[in-house]
Amino acid sequence: MDNGLLYRSEFTGTPRQPGPTSSKGNQLLRLIRAAQPITRVDIAERLSIDKSTVTENVKPLIASGILREDMMPADGVNRRSRVLSFNDDKVFFAGVNLGVRRSQVGMTTLSGEMTEEVDFETPKTASYALRLAREHVDNLIKKNPDRMLAVVGVSVPGMSDPDRQRLVFAPNLKWKDLDIASALRAHEGLRVVVDNDSTAAAMYEARVKIRNSEDGLMSNFILVRSGTGIGVGLVLGSEVYRGSGSVRGIAGEFGHMTIVAGGKACVCGNRGCWEQYASAASASSLYMGDRPALPGETAPRFVEIVSKAEVGDVRSRKTLERIGDYLGIGIANVIMGIGIPRVIISGRLVYGWKFIEQPLNEAIRRSIIGKIDGWSIEAGEPAGSALGGALEVAVEEYLAGL
Ligand SMILES: [Zn+2]
Repeated sequence: MDNGLLYRSEFTGTPRQPGPTSSKGNQLLRLIRAAQPITRVDIAERLSIDKSTVTENVKPLIASGILREDMMPADGVNRRSRVLSFNDDKVFFAGVNLGVRRSQVGMTTLSGEMTEEVDFETPKTASYALRLAREHVDNLIKKNPDRMLAVVGVSVPGMSDPDRQRLVFAPNLKWKDLDIASALRAHEGLRVVVDNDSTAAAMYEARVKIRNSEDGLMSNFILVRSGTGIGVGLVLGSEVYRGSGSVRGIAGEFGHMTIVAGGKACVCGNRGCWEQYASAASASSLYMGDRPALPGETAPRFVEIVSKAEVGDVRSRKTLERIGDYLGIGIANVIMGIGIPRVIISGRLVYGWKFIEQPLNEAIRRSIIGKIDGWSIEAGEPAGSALGGALEVAVEEYLAGL
C-alpha cells in the first residue's frame, strides 16, 4: 500500500503552525476522534495505509493512556473486534466563543462529549469580557479536579495574529490588538489558542465530514458564517487555511468585500460590504426598507423574521429571499476566487435556511459558476458557529501536539 497517501496534499502553501499538523499521525488521530470507536483495520482501509503503520502509530498512545482499546461485542453479523477510542479520564478542553452579541464558555472531552456550557451577554469592554471568560475557565478547572485542562480554544469575530495568541481586530466589537492568550492562561504553561470564528466553525464541520468520508481526510470546502457579520473559513488540501507570513490569521475576511458600489455604510469604514446585505443581522434593516425605525416601532431581529416567515408573512419571506440572493452573489465570487465548489453555510442564518436556499442557488446559477457542474451549497450545524468551533480549536491543537 501507498504510505505516501498520508502526506498527500493538493495545496502546498504554508502549514497552519509549525508542528506535526499535516503528518500522518495527525490525520490518523483526527479519524479516530471523528469515527471512534474504530478498528485498526477500518483506519488502515480509510487512510490507505498498512495495518502495521496504524499499530506503530497507536502503540505509544495506548501505552501512555491517551488511547484505549476495548473489545466490541459481536453483533450477530460481525465477530468480536478490538476498537480504539480516546480515553476521557486524563484531560479536558475549554472553549471560549467571544461573539458580538453573546459569548459562551464550555468544556469537552476527547470523545466529543460537550458539557458545562454557560452563555452570557458579551460585555462592551474587552477587559471585562476577558475577565468574565477567565472566571468561567477557572470554574471549569475547579469542577474537574481529577482531569487536567489541556488547551483553551478561543474563537473571535475577527482576525487573529500569526501566533494565534491575540485578536488583531474585531470590527463589530471595535476591539483591537488584545492579548487574549495571556488573559485566559489560568496556569503557567497552559496552551491558549485564538482563532477566527469562521475558521473554528470550518474545523467543526470538517470533523463531521471526516466521520462520513471514505478516505478519512478533511475534504476541501468553503465555510460561510453569517451572523452579526460574515466570515469565511477555508479548508484547502485537507487542512485549515489561515493565510501565510505576516498576514496568517486574516484569510477569509470576505465579509468586507464590496458588493454594492457606494452602498450601505459598514462598521469597517467602507461602503457596500457583503455583510451589510447578507448577514443575519442585516435582515432587520432590509425588513425596515433600510430606513430607521419610527418612534414606537422596533425593527424585528433575524429569528423573529424567520418566525414571521414561517406563518406566511410576505414581507419577512421577501426579506429572507433578498438575503439569499445577496448571499448567493457573494458566494459565487468566493467560489471563483478560491476554486473550491463546495460551500457550507454556518451561523445564525441557518435558522432561516428553507427560505434562503432557493434564491441563493438561483443567484449562483446566474453567475459563471452556474455554468459549471459540481457545485454544492449546504447548511451546516448551528453548534459549530458557537461553542462547538472554539472547542474544536482546542482539541485540534492538542492532537497536533501528540
Ligand atoms: Zn465592511
